[in-house]
Amino acid sequence: MKDLISLKYPDREPSIDVLDHGFVRLVDCMPSRIPDNEESADHAIAEAARCSYKRGTKTTRDDKMLIRYLMRHNHTSPLEMIEFKFHIKIPIFVARQWIRHRTANVNEMSGRYSEMPEEFYIPEVNNLRTQSKVNTQGAEGTIDAEKAQTIVNQFTAECEGDFKLYREFLDSGVVREQARMVIPLNTYTEWYWKIDLHNLLHFLDLRCDSHAQQEIRVYADAVLELIRPIVPWTLEAWQDYSPYRDGLMLTGFEVAQLRKVISENQLAPGKIDVENKLEQIEWTQKAKKLGFIAE
Ligand SMILES: Cc1cc2nc3c(=O)[nH]c(=O)nc-3n(C[C@H](O)[C@H](O)[C@H](O)COP(=O)(O)OP(=O)(O)OC[C@H]3O[C@@H](n4cnc5c(N)ncnc54)[C@H](O)[C@@H]3O)c2cc1C
Repeated sequence: MKDLISLKYPDREPSIDVLDHGFVRLVDCMPSRIPDNEESADHAIAEAARCSYKRGTKTTRDDKMLIRYLMRHNHTSPLEMIEFKFHIKIPIFVARQWIRHRTANVNEMSGRYSEMPEEFYIPEVNNLRTQSKVNTQGAEGTIDAEKAQTIVNQFTAECEGDFKLYREFLDSGVVREQARMVIPLNTYTEWYWKIDLHNLLHFLDLRCDSHAQQEIRVYADAVLELIRPIVPWTLEAWQDYSPYRDGLMLTGFEVAQLRKVISENQLAPGKIDVENKLEQIEWTQKAKKLGFIAE
């Protein structure tokens, strides 16, 4: 048997720096050891799936094909046999989005037990984004450089001021659990986060996606990179079949429009038969993915 993490990361810590002070570190995985004739944890997914199918002969190709079949048909329980444990350092406002994924186990540092370190996230000057007019929840474009520099300086001064007050409160005897109320949302926190592969892929679907806030997306991308050598075939299948990656999910209106376009030999996607403006925009985005409109 071989130790999987040291096999895949022989020369370095399985850790990726994220934002200005954060990181994602792969602490452990299950299976942590694999048979000498295997190269990744993918075989454990196929092995679990074979519990429900006839055993029969098994080749490497069979395993890979079986995983691709499972992925295409949402037969996800074999993916739950694989688990990952991460150590993550993350700004609190990103952690608030992350914690909405309820199917993981979390243990977070305590601001009641210890003093919060003075470490906060400040966006880079060229990453101070403007509000999107189309997507009320998103960003588009960036603030011009000179103005952005002023705002970044203001961010920094404000956060330093907040931490100064935090320490003054602690020095004057205020309990840590209350003094922390003045620290900003971009303060870094840390946690251990354990999740199975099925639920992790759901997390990656949503948080590697362009609709997710950039500050959580860079963490999700780091998670993805760390697990890629551990389950390469599964991630290849996920990339090919997930509607959030290279696959696509169409609504009934979109299927009807696509049928019309094909039957009329049209080259343009046209409009779907709904009043809702947002659905029209979403159809346009899908039409781009289908190649009707240049990206
Ligand atoms: C781009 C984006 C914008 C968002 N905006 C907002 C927002 O404005 N406001 C907001 O509050 N949230 C927002 N969210 C969070 C979002 O609504 C989900 O809470 C979050 O993405 C977790 O998804 P989930 O529930 O599918 O995942 P998980 O909690 O990991 O659950 C995984 C799956 O398990 C099942 N499940 C888990 N718990 C239950 C349950 N109690 N009952 C039934 N099924 C369950 C569901 O099938 C679920 O999909 C946003 C998320 C994204 C990605």
